[in-house]
Amino acid sequence: MATKPRRIVILGPPAGGKGTHAKRLAADLGVPHIAIGDMLRREVAEGTSLGRTAKGRMDAGELVPDEVVEEMVLSRLGRPDAARGWILDGFPRDREQAEALERQGVGSRVELALALEVSLHEIVERIGGRRMCRSGHVYHVVTNPPRTPGVCDVDGQPLFQREDDSDEVVRHRFEVFERDTKPLLEFYDGRGVLATVDGSGTPEEAYARLRATL
Ligand code: AMP
Repeated sequence: MATKPRRIVILGPPAGGKGTHAKRLAADLGVPHIAIGDMLRREVAEGTSLGRTAKGRMDAGELVPDEVVEEMVLSRLGRPDAARGWILDGFPRDREQAEALERQGVGSRVELALALEVSLHEIVERIGGRRMCRSGHVYHVVTNPPRTPGVCDVDGQPLFQREDDSDEVVRHRFEVFERDTKPLLEFYDGRGVLATVDGSGTPEEAYARLRATL
């Protein structure tokens, strides 16, 4: 049996399901789930200087400067648990970041780039109902509601809509994805590691298709 890839990046538009699938796949493969957006939101919530730098960009739907995220990600990849492999969720998001990862050498070479495909119509629907708590547990008011409306099942904290999930900001995040991140599909295709996945439908349906590519 061929060994399964263990250094995986997940690419996709906002609300494409990156976080949902990355978390589940990481648990299945026994490797860490490294979610850059979550790391940045934590810095913002804690009010660190990095968080203060990042907040304006995030609220506007812009990318945080490459050097900031690269330093965060590369130092996370240097921790012992990442030697087993990793699922990178939200990184790389542009060509410079993909090249920074490659410059780390063979031990950081991406073995599989999963590109989730979801229509703009479905993205808009998912984002309109998306809610989360401060610790990053994510719900959807229709397709994945909490037991008590507005309250996190896991830790009882109030749920809120992400600031960058407003209509206007989402439209811009989608444009940034098309402009900066989509060219990475060609980049990883050129390295022979790209797999595109139909990310539409329920999380279960999409995850089954994603697993089939492994
Ligand atoms: P996400 O949770 O992946 O949707 O990311 C939320 C926001 O965090 C993005 O819209 C960016 O502002 C920022 N962000 C996340 N990952 C990156 C990255 N790799 N490079 C730059 N900015 C990022």
